[in-house]
Amino acid sequence: MTDARPSRFDTLAVHAGQHTDPTTGDAIPAIHVTSTYAQDGIGNLRGGYEYSRGGNPTRTALEEQLAAIEGGAHGISFASGLAAEDALLRAVVAPGDHVLVPNDVYGGTHRLIRTVHGKAGVAHTTVDTADLDAVRAAVRPESKVLWVETPSNPLMKISDIAALAELAHENGLLLVVDNTFASPALQRPLDLGADVVVHSTTKYLGGHSDVVGGAVVVKEGADELAEQVRYVQFAAGAVSGPFDAFLTTRGIKTLSVRMQRHSETAQTLAERLVHHPAVARVLYPGLPDHPGHKIAAHQMSRFGGMISLDLAGGEAAARTFAESTEVFLLAESLGGVESLVNYPSEMTHASVRGTEAEVPPSIVRLSVGLEDVTDLLDDVLQALDRTHAAH
Ligand SMILES: *Cc1c(COP(=O)(O)O)cnc(C)c1O
Repeated sequence: MTDARPSRFDTLAVHAGQHTDPTTGDAIPAIHVTSTYAQDGIGNLRGGYEYSRGGNPTRTALEEQLAAIEGGAHGISFASGLAAEDALLRAVVAPGDHVLVPNDVYGGTHRLIRTVHGKAGVAHTTVDTADLDAVRAAVRPESKVLWVETPSNPLMKISDIAALAELAHENGLLLVVDNTFASPALQRPLDLGADVVVHSTTKYLGGHSDVVGGAVVVKEGADELAEQVRYVQFAAGAVSGPFDAFLTTRGIKTLSVRMQRHSETAQTLAERLVHHPAVARVLYPGLPDHPGHKIAAHQMSRFGGMISLDLAGGEAAARTFAESTEVFLLAESLGGVESLVNYPSEMTHASVRGTEAEVPPSIVRLSVGLEDVTDLLDDVLQALDRTHAAH
């Protein structure tokens, strides 16, 4: 053993939290399928574990890995992305407080803040976080949190994390970044000044569409905030179980190579679809004329695997397209090895219809998987042909 402590992303993703078993030498830590732990005398715990709502070694391994890959001090793993967001919000807002929410946020996040926390007396304003003046104008004395999602879902808008961190801190707000779309392999919000990162680990971190989970990662120096989130997790109980934690850890080990391929294939598809007559707009930050391209190129190492298409034939074309692909599965979710197509207006974003976060009915969203790029392109082209025929 040398003293060299590896600190680079790909090494951390594989090794952080993964301690070999001292008795058997297992290279992969066991999945700790237990709800409780034997005590050597009352309150005399071995290794600090008491009951698995409070902590479980498989979850601890994932939490160390999450903190390491986001460059944070604390990772906290939850039963779902929304459970993670809910615990964070409960820890940081109280009745009478106000939250700034992006106008192109994940529909479930908007619903959580609008309905569940709204009922608890928390107000919100929906704002375009790509427009710094609009964000500044929406801040109120009782504002506590600025929530940001970049790239956004599903319109792929880019918000400037470093500039928003400055704005947030000038106004005493906590900057929360939902890093689900980019993943820390491509973008590290805490390095850019954010206070907290949240994830639906269901998506790229898990990466194989076989586990639902979420995470909160808190920056260095905010131990009290992390304690508050852990307290809500323990008191309210939305923890991830050991099998889910194991699957997520396994997914994270290949995150970097997957994100590289997802990004390369998405870039190829985006470039090939720009001039297609059935496509009014390709929404992908890797295209040079995307309005957020320069900021994205600065704060992301690659542009990710998500593309949205605004179809020239409007709602009818979008519906036909979504039901015509053969390789892309018509399904909610994203970030898996298999390509998915989604019709946000009626699927992932149905809950925000009629609100300021409503998605235009001409939009389809693609989660570009790891299949062969030519097969994926052929599939999109044949589905676009059918939208013409439907006209
Ligand atoms: C899916 C998703 C969520 C919610 O996560 P769940 O794991 O489904 O609870 C939050 N934010 C974004 C960007 C998502 O895509």
